[in-house]
Amino acid sequence: MKRYLSLLAMMILCVCVFTGCQCSHEWTEADCITPKTCTKCEETEGEALGHNWEEATCTAPKTCTVCGLSEGEAQAHVWTEVSCAAPKTCEGCGLTEGEALEHTWVEANYQAPKTCSVCAATEGAPWTSAFEVMGLSFNVEEVGVAYPMIIDGQDFTYTIESYEIFASDEKHPAMDGYEWHVVSHITECLQGVAPYYYPTYTDFNNYYDMESFNKSLTVKDNYSMGFTVNYLGVDYSDCLFQGDADYLDTTDAGWMRKETLAFRVPAGFDGMFVCVGNADHITSDYYLEYKNLYTDSNTRFFQLK
Ligand SMILES: [Zn+2]
Ligand SMILES: [Zn+2]
Ligand SMILES: [Zn+2]
Ligand SMILES: [Zn+2]
Repeated sequence: MKRYLSLLAMMILCVCVFTGCQCSHEWTEADCITPKTCTKCEETEGEALGHNWEEATCTAPKTCTVCGLSEGEAQAHVWTEVSCAAPKTCEGCGLTEGEALEHTWVEANYQAPKTCSVCAATEGAPWTSAFEVMGLSFNVEEVGVAYPMIIDGQDFTYTIESYEIFASDEKHPAMDGYEWHVVSHITECLQGVAPYYYPTYTDFNNYYDMESFNKSLTVKDNYSMGFTVNYLGVDYSDCLFQGDADYLDTTDAGWMRKETLAFRVPAGFDGMFVCVGNADHITSDYYLEYKNLYTDSNTRFFQLK
């Protein structure tokens, strides 16, 4: 009997050797550290997948996105200096510490609102120009177009013949930071002959601040005057006016006066204007009377911008 048993064992062993175990495997999927494995017999197939590392950040160490295993330490925060735009801030994670600094405010002026000199933040609006405060507007815009006006009951036209901006030429001396704005305009009376006294008056001013402009005017000679304007909060005292040309001529309809007026102003300054209106508004006390000229609806204004 013992012999039969051992014979049977031999036969089973042979079957196993020649055909393999008959385990119907139940596989678990491979993961980061273990290959695909049978839960019954622990046989494996293939390789473990390996970790899927994500680099360390300032909030977490190097970490496997699959199993969550971590290695090492989180990195240090990458701080940017505190400024008036933002508190001390980590570039990596956006964490902040403390408060932003105070702005370094520069007062508003006629061209710019109150502005931080460090971060360029602004508050409010630029100052309102004196021209706007008086309710005035530029009513001559197109070069070469004849704009009608009535002076002492007579029909006139006002035309900007040319307008140029340039740094300098032989008649217009250069100055660092300044440029020339040169305008030629024609006032034509459509009837009659040229009178002994012009019924029209030509004026010019700084639309932002007329009072300061008038006070700053200094006569240099018959054809030129110095003046000061404030541009972006800075006083420019080397401004210059030149009366380049002024002549009278007859026309088919009547007569005309052509003038060329040249202004040396800060580069980029758009504040000068020329205007023509009824000369009756001008008295010996010009500085008090110019408001009457400016508020006459027949006065024609052109901005040298
Ligand atoms: Zn198995
Ligand atoms: Zn992993
Ligand atoms: Zn950080
Ligand atoms: Zn600031």
